[in-house]
Amino acid sequence: MHLQFHPNSILFLAAMLICAWIAAAIWPRRAVPGAPSLLVHMLGLALWNGATAVMWMGVSLPWQDFWLKFSTFGVVIAPAAFLVFSIQISFNEKRLKRRWLALLAIEPIAMVLLTWTNDIHYLVYSAPQLWNFKGLAELKWQPHLWFYIDAAYMHLVYIAAILLLVRSLPRHGILHRHQMSTILVGACLPLIGDLLNLTLLSRLSSNFDIFPLLFTISGGLYFYAMSQQKFLDLIPVAYSVLINSMTDGVVVLDAHDRIVEMNPAAGQFLGIIPGRVAGRDAKEIFAAWRETTQPIWGQPTVRTEINIIGDTPRTIDLKIVPLLGERNRPRGRMLVFRDITSRKQNESALKAKNEQLQEQLEENRALRDQLREQATRDPLTNLYNRRYLEEMLLQELARASRENYPVCLIMMDIDRFKLVNDTCGHKIGDDVLQTLATLIVLHIRRFDAACRFGGEEFVIVMPMLSVETAHQRAEFLRKEFAAMSMPCVGMTASPTLSIGLAVYPTDGMNGEQLLDAADQALYAAKSNGRNRVVVYSELAEKKESSERKISR
Ligand code: GH3
Ligand code: MG
Ligand code: MG
Repeated sequence: MHLQFHPNSILFLAAMLICAWIAAAIWPRRAVPGAPSLLVHMLGLALWNGATAVMWMGVSLPWQDFWLKFSTFGVVIAPAAFLVFSIQISFNEKRLKRRWLALLAIEPIAMVLLTWTNDIHYLVYSAPQLWNFKGLAELKWQPHLWFYIDAAYMHLVYIAAILLLVRSLPRHGILHRHQMSTILVGACLPLIGDLLNLTLLSRLSSNFDIFPLLFTISGGLYFYAMSQQKFLDLIPVAYSVLINSMTDGVVVLDAHDRIVEMNPAAGQFLGIIPGRVAGRDAKEIFAAWRETTQPIWGQPTVRTEINIIGDTPRTIDLKIVPLLGERNRPRGRMLVFRDITSRKQNESALKAKNEQLQEQLEENRALRDQLREQATRDPLTNLYNRRYLEEMLLQELARASRENYPVCLIMMDIDRFKLVNDTCGHKIGDDVLQTLATLIVLHIRRFDAACRFGGEEFVIVMPMLSVETAHQRAEFLRKEFAAMSMPCVGMTASPTLSIGLAVYPTDGMNGEQLLDAADQALYAAKSNGRNRVVVYSELAEKKESSERKISR
């Protein structure tokens, strides 16, 4: 078998290897939409280039004619696969119906069949001849009707693919825009082949097919988009899906605050079509927010709530984050926002309700304190009342018993008080009662309790105090009270106090007994001439001794 070393075969062999290599690089990404058809496109090209390379190697007519026919497989596969690829990456996958594919396949199948049977009808090309061109064997043939039909059809298919890509360009987000531009440039490249064919090539060599080479260069661009620009990479696809399905508004701005990208949620919120505002100044789009957001536009990172004033006031939760490029250089910013109007409304309604409840609670508390105060205090003197004293005494004596300390109880009664009332009037009588109350409060300890026991009777409970000290205090009070000036003109003597003193546990084991003992001492003080202090224990001793005297 004779072979020739034709430079063209080297060229096409290299092109075949490049296509195969690109196909191998696509293989791991085959799960991504668009990848399988691009893979088929590259394999088709590899076949086309490969068959052409082998054709140029041959020195016999049957050899060259066979491989020319063989290259037709690649010729029909490559553009068709590219159409499928462009349908898939231009969001038109739903249109990819089997029926359409079957219709589209009619011409390529016919082309293949007609090529292989060309020797019978010569519908595709004329009977080939082998020419000697500068010492190398070259096949010469003239294109016939079906060749032109096929060329027209392939052009149609290919141009349709390009148009689909162009139309989908605005719909691709920022993540895909650069890749799509690269792919588009790649896709347009083979069309230069027509131009070259019309001008240069036909003069150089009759059947030098520039198309597979140009398609290979396009493949190189697709490979660049894939490896450098992350085309056919699932992560950007996932991000894009995520951003587009988010309910939060997402807007990407470039370094000059121009809109680069906007997700459907943001478009819906702002009442605009995202694709139409690309490149516009963000401040213009967010005009309604301007007043409230003026101070934040200049800041790289922002997390704030803004209130939009208008017919329907709204509250927006806004977050601005910088988008950093290589070496942390700011490339732009991303705005993420959410309408929190209803949440804010609910919050403020809840807050108002809470404040109202708090106020109510405060009122109730004050009322309850007031009632409690009223229930425990005597209104005239503001000392504790008798009911409170009895309760308090119960607790105090229980504690005294637990902690083992004495509790002294003083009971005092104003002597001949009726006379004060009768001489000075009831009002002055009240003043005297209040004066005595003040005197008591001034001279008792913080933890003593003073109470108005009855009309002009008062009781002081003094825990942790010896009888002697309690006696001294009682004496002090008695003297102080007696030393006070006359309540009114006409009174011949100042009112005085009779005081009885009893101590727990010696004189009484409970409140009742203690009060009774103090009362008995008070009674004794009255009977012994008033204006005096009588200690119950002494009284008891006296009683006992007098009883002893009588019994003797
Ligand atoms: P003694 O205790 O020394 O036996 O004589 P007394 O005049 O104080 O005796 P009594 O207990 O009979 O009278 C107490 C008087 O106190 C009777 C009542 O008019 C008067 N009194 C009771 N409560 C009040 C009050 O709130 N205001 C005034 N102004 N007088 C009152
Ligand atoms: Mg009295
Ligand atoms: Mg009395």
